[in-house]
Amino acid sequence: MTGGFWAGLLACVAVANGVVDRAAPMSSSRPSPLGVLFFASVLIVLLSAVARRIRFEAPSARAQRVSRWMRMASSFADLEVALALCASVYALLAVTGGLHSDFYPLLYAVVAFSTTFQTRSAAVLTTLAIAALELAALHRVGLSGLRETVFHLAFVLGALAVHAVFLRGLVAANRRDHGLKVESEVRRQQESARDYRLISVALGADSRAPRSREQEEEILRAGSVATISSSIYHSLSLLHQALDARSCVLLWFDNRDSELRVKEIVSDCDSVTEDSSVPLAGVLKAVVRDCKPLILATTKAGQVCYYEGSFDAGAFMGIPVLEGKHLRGVLCIDRKHPFESKHKELAESAAQQVLHAIHSEQVFGSVERAKYEHERFYHASALLCRALTMEQVQDTAFDAASAIVDYDVAIITLHDPNRHRHRVLCVRQIEGAPSVVDVEKLRGLEFRENAGLVSMVVKNKHYLPAAGALRDNTTPVFDGKLRFSCESLLVLPLLSADEAIGTLTLASHKRGQFRKDTREMLGVISNQVAVSMQNGLMYKRMETMATTDGLTGLTNHRSFQERFADLVERSQRHGHKAAMLLCDVDHFKNVNDTYGHPVGDEVLRQVARVLQAATRKIDIPARYGGEEFAVVLEATDLEGALGLAERIREDVGALVLDSEKGTFQITMSIGVAAFPGDGDEPAVLIERADMSLYHAKESGRNRVVCYRDFDAARRGLKASA
Ligand code: GH3
Ligand code: MG
Ligand code: MG
Repeated sequence: MTGGFWAGLLACVAVANGVVDRAAPMSSSRPSPLGVLFFASVLIVLLSAVARRIRFEAPSARAQRVSRWMRMASSFADLEVALALCASVYALLAVTGGLHSDFYPLLYAVVAFSTTFQTRSAAVLTTLAIAALELAALHRVGLSGLRETVFHLAFVLGALAVHAVFLRGLVAANRRDHGLKVESEVRRQQESARDYRLISVALGADSRAPRSREQEEEILRAGSVATISSSIYHSLSLLHQALDARSCVLLWFDNRDSELRVKEIVSDCDSVTEDSSVPLAGVLKAVVRDCKPLILATTKAGQVCYYEGSFDAGAFMGIPVLEGKHLRGVLCIDRKHPFESKHKELAESAAQQVLHAIHSEQVFGSVERAKYEHERFYHASALLCRALTMEQVQDTAFDAASAIVDYDVAIITLHDPNRHRHRVLCVRQIEGAPSVVDVEKLRGLEFRENAGLVSMVVKNKHYLPAAGALRDNTTPVFDGKLRFSCESLLVLPLLSADEAIGTLTLASHKRGQFRKDTREMLGVISNQVAVSMQNGLMYKRMETMATTDGLTGLTNHRSFQERFADLVERSQRHGHKAAMLLCDVDHFKNVNDTYGHPVGDEVLRQVARVLQAATRKIDIPARYGGEEFAVVLEATDLEGALGLAERIREDVGALVLDSEKGTFQITMSIGVAAFPGDGDEPAVLIERADMSLYHAKESGRNRVVCYRDFDAARRGLKASA
């Protein structure tokens, strides 16, 4: 392999030594035989180098790993060409004027070629060889040729630099383009693979825009139909070829088993019917009636019904496609010559192949469906784990159920074992879905334990109805009065610590919505709902405990402060009025002392009830501390506040309280401060209400005093003093 390299090198050395100059001096009009011989040998070296380079096959990766020489083989093949090229060009230059030759541009072309197409080492060697040969030429002519040599070398280096730079730029740009193309192709392929269901949809629900159940079904259906038809077409084509048939036609029964339809055709004849449905007559009638293969050596014109008019089909073979005992279709083949007995076997196996393709797709479809549902299931579980408050739990419970199954209405009920009652906690009616139950009647519905499905499910801790379908719509689900008009219904127990705390009811107008595997998944989800609900209830209890007063059930002091500050800020923002009352039971210490502490507690509870009854929903009655109460009144002016305070005072005064020592009555003093008249800071308002209360106590108790009156009285006192 290295022989060519040495030959090239030798040729270069010979050229550098002026062999060509001597053999074919410029002055000579006829080249000498030696010159011709030399030219011929350089040309042979060049041609053989080029030929070897073209035929050169790089050693295998393994050989390259083993031997250093093998690794360098391609470089050597390039070097051989490079040296032979240099020697040839310089030989040509030598005989065409040496340093003044008009063929010098050829040299730049060699550099350009070497930089562009050869390995880097060959390009470097070419440049070095050219430089050496150029200097040798200069040496031969003496310093007179220095100018030309400098020019030539400068051009060579220029050609080298320009090509190297352009080439690199070009390569980088190409690489980038190629990279982008590959990337986008990979992305497109992945998309298609996902759509053709080749990649699991479980790549992650978040890895692409989520598809609805319908979209997913559509893709699955389209993919399956395409796969089945291409597989059937393939089988028919093979059969068509193998039996030298005119037509192979697959006829299939529609879903009511009433009509035979053309599903796939491979035919050389254009008389095959254009209609999709084929009359059940002639030879087809016999195949369908007997459910047995039918082979006829000849048929009468018009007997083979998938041909138009009275076409003479010749020999006919009809193979029933049976799924168990059920006839699904007929595979028909016809040809000019009669069929042989071995053809029947072939046709039967093609019929099997057709069924097989359909079965595979059915299995594939159900696996894909299950995969989709499992993915949704995990998503639903994750949602439930994140739900904290009762409202969040209810919402996510409905979301989680709809991730698994399509329903029209979903209802959560809670069971109160102490009161033996069930209560509808929340309802979700899917927008646009048909109404399967009167949702308005459901909201806030309470019913006793009875023989309805909800009660039975809570009692038996197992979902009902067993098949997920409501056969008889007079069956009570909640109470006897409420009727469901739906095809699918499922009442699932919400099981927490083996106790059914309530139920999740799902109903749909569609038939067969709650299949077995779906029911199982929904069962797991409802148990998770139950646990989340328990957590939600606990969260609510903790929140209540943190914000209400244990004795009276009113808002506690801390929460009152927060809500009052919010109210003042809100009123400030909207320019509304507000007021607050500070109420204190008169001589309460005496009540405790006379009737005992428990009676005192009961008095506080009764006073709290009066406050709650007297105020609106938006007002905040609170236990301020001890026997003091505060009432915050939203959007209320001073007159309104005074009116309410007076009513409270009267109602408290009217209470008749029981004790072991007989009945007794109490009175209450109330201080009133109004926003913004008496101040615009919560602390200032409280202080002024307190001052007014103090004044009420001072001036005889059992009365209402507002800050405005207190202030006027104080000023009056000051003035008189
Ligand atoms: P005044 O008319 O000036 O308001 O007289 P008063 O006796 O109501 O005044 P004071 O504030 O001195 O007495 C409040 C009493 O309320 C003292 C305390 O024992 C009692 N008290 C505070 N909290 C409770 C409670 O939760 N239950 C009961 N039973 N008594 C309480
Ligand atoms: Mg007090
Ligand atoms: Mg008091």
